[in-house]
Amino acid sequence: MSLWLNGIGVSRGIAIGRVQRLHGGDLEIPEYLLPPDEVEAEVTRFHGAQGRAKEQLQQVRAQIPGGAPGEIAAFIDTHLLMLDDRSLTDAVVGLIRAQRYNAEAAVKRQRDALVAVFEQMEDPYLRSRKDDVQHVSARILRILLNQEKAAPVARADSGEAAASDPIVIVADDVTPADIILLGQQGVAAFVTEYGGPLSHTAILARSLGLPAIVGLHNARRLLREGEWVIIDGDLGHVLADPDGGARDFFSAKRARQLADRAALGSLRDKPAISRDGVKIRLLANIELSEDATHAAELGAEGVGLYRTEFLYMNRRSLPTEEEQYQAYARVVASVKGPITIRTLDLGADKQVDSGARSGPTPNNPALGLRAIRLCLKEPELFRAQARALLRASAHGDLHIMLPMISNVQEFRQAQALIEAARVQLAAEGQPMAQHVPLGAMIEVPAAALSVPLLARHAEFFSIGTNDLIQYTLAIDRVDDEVNYLYDPLHPAVLRLIHMTIEAGDRARRPVAMCGEMAGDPKYTRLLLGLGLTEFSMHPASILEIKRIIIESDVGRLRARAQAILDAADALELQEVLAEFERAA
Ligand code: PEP
Ligand code: MG
Repeated sequence: MSLWLNGIGVSRGIAIGRVQRLHGGDLEIPEYLLPPDEVEAEVTRFHGAQGRAKEQLQQVRAQIPGGAPGEIAAFIDTHLLMLDDRSLTDAVVGLIRAQRYNAEAAVKRQRDALVAVFEQMEDPYLRSRKDDVQHVSARILRILLNQEKAAPVARADSGEAAASDPIVIVADDVTPADIILLGQQGVAAFVTEYGGPLSHTAILARSLGLPAIVGLHNARRLLREGEWVIIDGDLGHVLADPDGGARDFFSAKRARQLADRAALGSLRDKPAISRDGVKIRLLANIELSEDATHAAELGAEGVGLYRTEFLYMNRRSLPTEEEQYQAYARVVASVKGPITIRTLDLGADKQVDSGARSGPTPNNPALGLRAIRLCLKEPELFRAQARALLRASAHGDLHIMLPMISNVQEFRQAQALIEAARVQLAAEGQPMAQHVPLGAMIEVPAAALSVPLLARHAEFFSIGTNDLIQYTLAIDRVDDEVNYLYDPLHPAVLRLIHMTIEAGDRARRPVAMCGEMAGDPKYTRLLLGLGLTEFSMHPASILEIKRIIIESDVGRLRARAQAILDAADALELQEVLAEFERAA
C-alpha cells in the first residue's frame, strides 16, 4: 500500500529508487568505568581511533572528483580540523583520565556538551554546525565500536531488485564525507531523520544536484529496505510503494525538470535583460573563497555577499590580518565582476573557538552585541579585517559592506575606522584601490526607515531579508515555535523593501537584495515589480531566476507595485500575485 511521508526538502529534484538504509540504526554506546591501570591504554585506544578517522577522511578527500565544487574539499577539511580540535580531543582524554570513563562514553559526553553549546546559537548557520560535531564524533565512535562499514552501497537485497535499480539512501543522518562517496556511487537521492536546510550536508546535496529530504522523523522505521520510493526534493515528499499512476506522474515530472535544467544551461552566457529591455544584475552569495569560481561558472556577474565569518570558525585563534588578506585577495582575483565583502557578522551568542568576546550569553542575543555592534566594541578585531580588506582591494573591484547597521552613527564610526586603516596603510606604502565603496546592509527596520539619511554616507545598500523579516515581525528566525509567522509577504516587510528601493533610487544609491528571498523564484516577479534591479543569491539559483527575468515585462510589473502594497492580507496578495504572473 502506498504511503506519503513529509520532511523538509533541502535539495530539489525527483528521484525514483529502492530504499537502502545506512548505518542500520543509532550506535549503541556502552558506558563503564575503567580500572585505574587501564586508563592510559584507553587514552591510546582513543588516539588510535582519532588517527584512523583522519586517515579515512584523507582518503575521501583524495577521491573528490576533478570538477566538484570547492566547498566539498572545504567540508572535509573542516572535519579534519575538528578531529584535531582540542575542545573535542583534549576534553575526551580529560574525561578518560579524570573520570575513568571508557573512550566511547567520553566521546559521547563531550559530543553532547558541544552540541548543547551549538544549539544555543542564534545564527542558523552556526547552529547547524552541531552537525559537524555529531558527524565527527560518530566517525570516531564507529571506529571504537568496530562498526566502520558506514556507507556500504551494496545493491538492494529484495528478491526482484536489479543491480541497475537506483538507490535512495535512508539514514538517521549523513555526513558530508558520506555524501561524496554516495554521489560517486551513483546514489539517486537521500532521506534523513535529522538535519536542517542550512546543514553542510544539505548545502553539499544542492551543489551535487542530489535530491534530498531531511528532518523526516522515523524514516528508517517507516520505509522498508528494498522497497520502491519516490522522492520529491522540491516539496519534501516521500511516496513509498507507489502505484503505476504515481510512477508515471513523477517520471513525467522528472523528465520535465531534467529538460528544464538542460535548457537553463543555455542561459549561462545570456545577459539578464527583461522582455522590455531592463537590465538586471545577478550576483552570487558565497561563504568560502572556493565558491567564487563556481559562482562564475553558473553565470554570476560578481559577488553580492561574501560572508566572512566562516574564516573565523573551527579554530582557536583569530585569523591574522595577513591570513585574511590572502583569503580576500584570492577571492577578489578569481571574480570577474565586483565583489562585495561583508565585515564580520558574529554575535555574543555566536562565539566560535577563536572567541571574539567572552562573558555570559545575553537573554536576547539577536537583539544584542552582534555584527557591526561587536566590531565597534572590539575595534582591534575590526581594524585587522579593515586593513586586510583594503589591501585586497588592490587586486580587483572590492566593495565593503557593514552588517546590521541600525543608525547613521554606527555607519560613520565604522567608516572612520576604515579611513584610519587606509591612512595607516598608505603611510606604510601598501598598495590599495584608490576608492573602495562602503555600503550598508538593510536588515533592521530602523535602517530601512533611515535610508535617505544613511545615503548621505553609504554608497550602496543591500537588503538582508533574512534578518529584516525577523526584526520587522519580531520573530526569532531559528525558533520553530514561531516559524509559521516568518512571512516574506507580510505587508510591513514588502513596504520596507519598497521604501528602501525607492529611497536608494532617489539618492542615486544602488540597492541590491542578498537575503534568501532574492534567490526564491516565487518572489522574483514581485521583487521586479517593487523595483529591485540587483539580486544576490546562492549560485545554484541564478539561472532559474534569470529565466524568469528574461520572460518578464518589468514595466508592466512595476505599474502594479501599488496593488501589492495595498493588499491587506495574504489572500488579497495571492490574488495580486496571480495577476502578476499573468501580466508578466
Ligand atoms: C540576511 O540577513 O538576509 C543576510 C543575508 O544575512 P545573514 O543571513 O548572513 O544573516
Ligand atoms: Mg543578516
